[in-house]
Amino acid sequence: MKNILLFVFYFMFLYTQAQQNNFSEKCGTMHLLEMHQNNNLQLQVKMLESEKNIQHWIKNNKGRNKSVITIPIVVHVVYVNNNQNISDEQIQSQIDVLNADYRRLNTDKVNTRPVFDTIAADIEIEFCLAATDTNGNFTTGIIRKQSPGEFFGLFTPLDAVKSSNGGIGSDPWPTDQYLNIWVCPLIPGLLGYAQFPGDNPATDGVVITTNAFGTIGTVQPPSTKGRTATHEIGHWLGLRHIWGDGPCDSTDYVDDTPNADASSSGCDLNKNTCVNDSTFWGNFNPPDMVENFMDYSEDACMNAFTKGQKNRMWAAINTLRPTLLTTMNNKSCYTVGVHFHEFSSNEIQIFPIPADNNFTITLNEEFIQSLTVYNLLGEMVFSKNINSSSTVIDTQHWKNGIYTINVKSENKNFIQKIAVNKH
Ligand SMILES: [Zn+2]
Repeated sequence: MKNILLFVFYFMFLYTQAQQNNFSEKCGTMHLLEMHQNNNLQLQVKMLESEKNIQHWIKNNKGRNKSVITIPIVVHVVYVNNNQNISDEQIQSQIDVLNADYRRLNTDKVNTRPVFDTIAADIEIEFCLAATDTNGNFTTGIIRKQSPGEFFGLFTPLDAVKSSNGGIGSDPWPTDQYLNIWVCPLIPGLLGYAQFPGDNPATDGVVITTNAFGTIGTVQPPSTKGRTATHEIGHWLGLRHIWGDGPCDSTDYVDDTPNADASSSGCDLNKNTCVNDSTFWGNFNPPDMVENFMDYSEDACMNAFTKGQKNRMWAAINTLRPTLLTTMNNKSCYTVGVHFHEFSSNEIQIFPIPADNNFTITLNEEFIQSLTVYNLLGEMVFSKNINSSSTVIDTQHWKNGIYTINVKSENKNFIQKIAVNKH
């Protein structure tokens, strides 16, 4: 009897191993949702309700987003060996990709085929490493943690990377204020996975494998352009796969993305799998949009989100992640390589005044001599000479967005980005 039980357990073990070793999807988001829903009937109901709310918002607020928002990111680097403990610069390279892809500033946007050029969208969402922790103290937005084990996956133990239990992973920062991204070695074949809005806050965020995060360091072809994170954050903001995770008649809940009967791989620009595309396209039969970030095409092939996807992301933010609209009111951004890390918070302090979103800048041991502010396009929006240790930047006439401030003292040059986000 004992031997038979052992035999059974052995095959169960082999089956679990096989599941882990033969993961055929490069994105595990739908599997994660399925597992969460299988364990939780209430969640099934809640996700249906969430979908209704998203649809309702889209219907009533088409194209309405107040202004560009910035989402502060905390990156948890969970590494097993030192090679996987990726550099700050590699992390910044991923932030830069997100800011290009979500503002349609990616240089390869010229590869979007003419048929899709008019529906390609600037999502008007920006990202930065959080420079402010939950207590208002300075942080780089990067957490590093060594972990025992070999690979992380979706199966056993479920989402272990997102918890410090047993010394395995790293706990999320408040998921209503920060986008938590865990970078860790995932089982071979799995590039990343995300949790949809509306699911459990304790495990909310995005997981990306070490070899597909950013554009330098540990990245491996063909995932060298940081598009795994662009794709997974799309899910985190409510987007489904462009083929609707099923045959032609399944939906991604977005009108302007052509139907497709399966995911793409590589970059097959001739792929056209469905005749009846959508009400948006009418009788016209566009090819499958393999350049969409929500397909499975390789990184170099992807270059666009659509206007319909933009509406859906803003609907998800307004209905299911509304705290993202104001989270930057009491936070600032850290940029790797922009010298801020050379100055301790003993030397310079920058913080927004919440009521009107003006900023105070204080040098603790020197006088500020001049202060210059640039917008994202590099245009100077403000400049003044000062001879004092502290000054207030009045943002009353500024559009919301990210600005780079350059503070000169007699001996030093301080550069930091600030986010202006007024109501
Ligand atoms: Zn996906």
